[in-house]
Amino acid sequence: MLSMNTIRQALSGLKAPVWSLGASLAFWFCLLSTALTLVIVYVIGISATAKMREQVGMQLANLAFQASDKLDKGMFERYREFELLAARKFLADPAESAADKQRLLDQMKATYPSYAWIGIADLNGKVLAATNGLLVGADVSKRPWFGNALRGVHIGDVHDAKLLASKLPNPTGEPLRFVDVAFPFSDANGRPVGVIGAHLSWSWADDVQRSVLSTGVGRLPAQGIVVASDGTVLLGPQGLIGMRIDLPSVAAAREGRDGYMVERWPDGKQYLVGFSATRGYQSYPGLGWKMLVRQDANEAYAQVREMQQHVFWSGLTIALLFSLLGLFNARRISGPLASLSAAAKDLMSGRSSSLRPVVSGYSEVNGLGSALSALVTDLQANQLALQKLNLSLEQRIADRTADLASSEARLRTITDSIPVLIAYVDGEGRCNFINRVCEQWLGAPPAAYLGATLGAILGEPAYAKLLPQIAKARQGEAVTFDHSRPAGNGVQHLQLQFIPDGMAAGKGHCPHGFYVVAHDVTDTRNYQLALQQDLLTDALTGLPNRAACMQRLRDAIFRARRSGKQMAAMFLDIDCFKAINDTYGHQVGDQVLLEFGRRLRARLRECDMVARLSGDEFVIVAEDLDQAHAAAVVMAEKILDAINSPMQVDGHTVQVSTSIGIAISAGAGTAPNELVRLADQAMYSAKKAGRNRYAIHPAKSLKSEAFA
Ligand code: GH3
Ligand code: MG
Repeated sequence: MLSMNTIRQALSGLKAPVWSLGASLAFWFCLLSTALTLVIVYVIGISATAKMREQVGMQLANLAFQASDKLDKGMFERYREFELLAARKFLADPAESAADKQRLLDQMKATYPSYAWIGIADLNGKVLAATNGLLVGADVSKRPWFGNALRGVHIGDVHDAKLLASKLPNPTGEPLRFVDVAFPFSDANGRPVGVIGAHLSWSWADDVQRSVLSTGVGRLPAQGIVVASDGTVLLGPQGLIGMRIDLPSVAAAREGRDGYMVERWPDGKQYLVGFSATRGYQSYPGLGWKMLVRQDANEAYAQVREMQQHVFWSGLTIALLFSLLGLFNARRISGPLASLSAAAKDLMSGRSSSLRPVVSGYSEVNGLGSALSALVTDLQANQLALQKLNLSLEQRIADRTADLASSEARLRTITDSIPVLIAYVDGEGRCNFINRVCEQWLGAPPAAYLGATLGAILGEPAYAKLLPQIAKARQGEAVTFDHSRPAGNGVQHLQLQFIPDGMAAGKGHCPHGFYVVAHDVTDTRNYQLALQQDLLTDALTGLPNRAACMQRLRDAIFRARRSGKQMAAMFLDIDCFKAINDTYGHQVGDQVLLEFGRRLRARLRECDMVARLSGDEFVIVAEDLDQAHAAAVVMAEKILDAINSPMQVDGHTVQVSTSIGIAISAGAGTAPNELVRLADQAMYSAKKAGRNRYAIHPAKSLKSEAFA
C-alpha cells in the first residue's frame, strides 16, 4: 500500500484549481472575445469617423458652393432684368401714362413674387409709379437705393423695410428685409430723368438655400447660413441672425476658399461646416456674402456610432457563443480528469490498490492516465524496495550501535584501568570525556566533571598556570610539560600532554578540541631527589660530602662577591687518627668521626656548612662575616675547645684533637678548589707547628685569576 504522502506528492499537479477548467476556459474565451470586440469598435470608430467627416464635409462644402452660386445667379438675374428695363425708352417717355408704367411694374412683380416693391421716381426722388400704387407721390430721395443708383451703385445689401414696413402684407410678423436693385433711366437724348428701383424680399435667399439644401443632402439635417461681408449673419437659424460671428470657416471663405472644417460655434457645440463665398456673376459684382452650411458633429457621426453599437453587440454575442463553446469543451476535457482524480482518491483512501483506467476523447488525457498509472506502479515498487532497505538499514544501525556501545565499554574499561588520567576537552573548553582516574586524583566520579569547564575542574590558580599550554593545544600544537599540584599533605608531580583533536581540525574557525593525558610521576621524581641527595651526602656522618661542599663553596663565593662581604673556608684534619684506629679499632674510629662531625655542627651557626671531604678531613664554609679574620679565629678556638673535650665511644674515653687551616676569600672572588687548597696548606702549617691549633692563610695571597 502506498503511503498517503507519496500519493499526495504524485498527484499534487492534479489538485482541483480554485476555478474549474470549464469556468476558466469560458472566462478567457469571453474576455478575449470582448477585448477583441472593443478593439474593433475602437478602430472602426476612429477610421469611420474620419471617413464620415470627409464624406459629410465634402457634401456640406458642395452645398455651400451650390447655394452661393445660386444666390449669385439669382441676384445676377435681378440685376440684368433691371439693367435691361432701365434701358427701355418706355420708362422715360412722358407720353406714356403713369398707369401704363404701373401696369408694367405689376406684371414684373407678378412674374417673380419675391419682388416686394418696384417703383419709378424722378430725379427729385418723387415716386411716379409703383407696384400696387404703393408710395406713389412719396419722396424717396433720401433712400440709399435712390442716391446709390444715380452714383452708379446698383445693388443694396440686406436692410430692414422703412417706408414699406407698414404697407406690405406680413403674415409671419417677422421684420421685412430687402435687397435693393436700382438703375437710373435716361430720355431719348441720354440724359438721366429718373430711377427705377426694386426691393427684393430677403426671404428669396431663404428659399434659395432651402431649395439647395433640400435637393442636396437627402436625410442630412443641415442648416444654411448667409454671412455679410462684415461677418453679420444675414440668414440662418433664429438667434444667430444679426449676430457677428468670427469663425475660421468665415475667415477661410473670406480668403476665397471653398471647403469644410470642424469648429466650435458660439452655442458651444461642434459643427461640421461647409463654406463658400459668393463672388458675383458676369456684370453682377456680388455683395461679398459667405455661404455656410453646417451640421451638428454629433448628428454627422450618428451613423458611425450606430455602426459601433452594431459591432459591439455582435461582438458580445460572439463572445457569449465562444464562452459556451469553451464551457462545452472544458467539460469534455475536465470530465475524464475528474474521473482520474476520483480514481487517485480511491487509491489514496485504500478503496482500490491500482489506478482505474480512464477513457477520454483526448489523447493527452489518456496519456496522462497511462503515465499516472505507470507512476503509481513504479512508486509502489519503489516503496516496497524502500521498506526493505529501511529494514536492513535499521538492522545495520542496531548492529553498529551495539558495536559502538561495546567498543566504548571496552575503551572505558581500558582507560579506567590504567593509572593515567585521560580526558577530552571540546572546542568550547568543556570536558566531554574523563576516565575514572579522576575519582582518585580530583575526588569525584567522571559524571561530576562532564560538561564542566577546565577552569571549574582545576580551580582558577592551576587553570591560569596552564593557560599558555591550553592556547597552544587549541591552535593545533601538541604540548608536553611537567606540572605539580598540591595533593593531600604533599605534592603530586604530573607529566601532562595536550594532544590536539585531528578530527576536529579545520572545521570553520572553531578552535581545536584536545585530549589530556596526565601521568603521575611523583614517585619517580621523589626517587630522583633522593638519589641526588645521596650523591651529595657523606654516608657515615650524614654531612654534605665533597661534591656538596664544592657546590656550596661556589655559591658562597658568588654571594660574597655580590654582597661585598667576606667568607672563610676552614680545613680540619684529625690529629693522629691512624693511631685512634689502631688503638681502638676501625669501628671506634667511625664513631669518633661521627662525634667529631656532631661537635662541629653543634658549635657552628645554622647558616655555616660542615662537610666531610674524605677520611678524617672536614671543611667548614662560613659566610657573611664582618671581620672575617677575627671571626675565623674565634670560630677556630671554639672548635679546638669543643674537640679537645674527651669523647665516650663504645665504653672508651678517647682524647681527640684537630689541626685547622683557615683561608679567607677576598671580595674579588676565588675559585673553590683554590680556596680549599689554601686552607689545606694552612692546616698543614698548623700540623707542622705541633697540631691541635689553627693557622690562617694570608688574605692578600688569595687572588685567583682563574675564577670568573
Ligand atoms: P696526622 O696527624 O698527620 O694527620 O696523622 P694521622 O694519623 O691522622 O694521619 P692521616 O690523617 O694521614 O691518616 C688518616 C687515617 O684515617 C688513615 C686511615 O686509615 C684512616 N681512615 C680513613 N678513613 C677512615 C674511616 O672511614 N674510618 C676509620 N676508622 N678510619 C679511617
Ligand atoms: Mg689526620
